[in-house]
Amino acid sequence: MHNRRTFLLKLVASAGAPALLTSRSLAQSPPPPAKLEENDPVAMALGFKLDTTKVDAQKYPRHANDQVCSGCTLYQGKAGDALGPCLTVGGKSVPAAGWCSVFVKKP
Ligand code: SF4
Repeated sequence: MHNRRTFLLKLVASAGAPALLTSRSLAQSPPPPAKLEENDPVAMALGFKLDTTKVDAQKYPRHANDQVCSGCTLYQGKAGDALGPCLTVGGKSVPAAGWCSVFVKKP
């Protein structure tokens, strides 16, 4: 009798463990998107800068320092976030104070 009970307890524990692990795995939030670096080939093609004040004014005469990623239509971060995903660069994170030549002012 004792052996049967022990066997059933072990069976229940082993059957429940994978379900518990799966539910814990699903409860974890996904990893944050990779951060876009200025030396990324896509970033370089777009004239991307981590800090809008560092944009080359000669090369981008239409740029203004009040144009920042957080004010761009393509920015997916929330207000107040330091970083947010950008649709233009495949969802990589860009800083709220960044800029690239695709900038489209939020309406
Ligand atoms: S498209 Fe907009 S949010 Fe994305 S990097 Fe360029 S300025 Fe920033």
